[in-house]
Amino acid sequence: MPIMDMNAEAYEKYVAQTDEPVLVEFWAPWCTYCRRLAPALEEIARRYQDSLAVGRIDIDKEPGLAEREKIELVPTVMLYRGGRLLGRAVVPRSGEELEELIAATLHQRQERGEGAQHVYDMIVIGGGPGGYTAALYAARAGLDVVVLEKLSAGGQMALTEQIDNYPGFDQGIDGFTLGEKMRKGAERFWAETYPAQALSLELSDKVKRVETSQGALYGRTVVLAAGAVPRQLGIAGEEEMRGHGVSYCAACDGMFYKGKRVVVVGGGNSAAADALILSRICERVILVHRRNTLRATKIYHAPLMEAGNVEFRWNSVVTGLLYDAAVSGVRLRDVVTGEESAVECDGVFVSIGRSPASELVKGQLGLDSAGHVIADESTRTDIPGVFAVGDVRTKALRQIVTAVADGAVAVHFAQEYLAGGV
Ligand code: NAP
Repeated sequence: MPIMDMNAEAYEKYVAQTDEPVLVEFWAPWCTYCRRLAPALEEIARRYQDSLAVGRIDIDKEPGLAEREKIELVPTVMLYRGGRLLGRAVVPRSGEELEELIAATLHQRQERGEGAQHVYDMIVIGGGPGGYTAALYAARAGLDVVVLEKLSAGGQMALTEQIDNYPGFDQGIDGFTLGEKMRKGAERFWAETYPAQALSLELSDKVKRVETSQGALYGRTVVLAAGAVPRQLGIAGEEEMRGHGVSYCAACDGMFYKGKRVVVVGGGNSAAADALILSRICERVILVHRRNTLRATKIYHAPLMEAGNVEFRWNSVVTGLLYDAAVSGVRLRDVVTGEESAVECDGVFVSIGRSPASELVKGQLGLDSAGHVIADESTRTDIPGVFAVGDVRTKALRQIVTAVADGAVAVHFAQEYLAGGV
């Protein structure tokens, strides 16, 4: 069967309303990776013509569908059956990765029997470095482990352009690739990836239940590895203009502001890294920081000063957004003089730190005043069989290496817990 060019109507017909498996590529005409993947997708369509329908959706023509399916990067290839998402490959680079997607999801679930209630030894919530390290250690220890991941492997790390402080990569590595390597490393030992969002958790019973956007999962232990979410400025219009001029991720959204003027808010490593990325894309970058010097490590200072199109507004806070259908500027206040001013811009990138993604466990697990799940170096939480790893946990240093260490430690104590006869 040839590859179908799908619009929203065809998507409803083939994806939502048939029981047959359907592989769908979300792509864009301007995307180089999509062009490179095209022959591999054709080969897959030919090879699986008897068992799989294959379609393509142009996200420029179907932006609503892309938004509904939470497509953030192209190409993203989704595998559905009976309207349910079984698996997802974000920016696959080869036919082998598509084969892996088909083998790891379609075949695995078929063997297990889809309707049956399966109880995993471990459910890992979040596919960042802490989550996939837990999955790797658990899978190598022979535990039946599933990783719940709503977007792509790597978590926050996947959005980092260059990582130089994770040992073993003498030239550094980009976060997306490192995340994919961690996923594949765990899947090599049969850890399963479940592409869905956790919606609610019931943790108190011996068999814990995780309600997800794709149905319920059951597990004897749960590892919370949900990471952190961007902190908001808390100004009027911020939520409303999200995606219409307000962004929290330069690596994801920077290209939408090609040749335009943008404001970056913050003075830490994230703001500095974002300003650098944007300086290569945008006509002008205005970095607004509430102090008169950057908190970011020295390595960022010289490239930012030398960029030529980066302007600094020191001692300034954003007090308001100027917007109608889209953002047209920000209002600033000088924290020293109290002077108010306005800056015209097409986009605002908010890079003022992160808050732990602990909403799901509020009321069930102890949290500190900033919302981190209280757990010591053992990663054990208040509830037996529930562990917290990485940025969501109370800890002194939130880095990839410390998240990875947490993942290994959590499995050590999970095995001890499981050996206790649970
Ligand atoms: P961060 O280090 O906590 O910095 C947050 C920045 O935002 C600070 O400059 C802070 O100002 C400012 N800020 C906070 N709340 C604000 C508000 N309401 N209004 C205006 N400004 C506000 O956060 P981050 O930069 O996101 O980094 C988080 C962690 O990730 C850090 O450990 C960082 O080192 C790490 N990281 C590392 C790299 C790298 O190594 N390449 C890259 C990105 C992130 P003050 O300075 O006044 O507090």
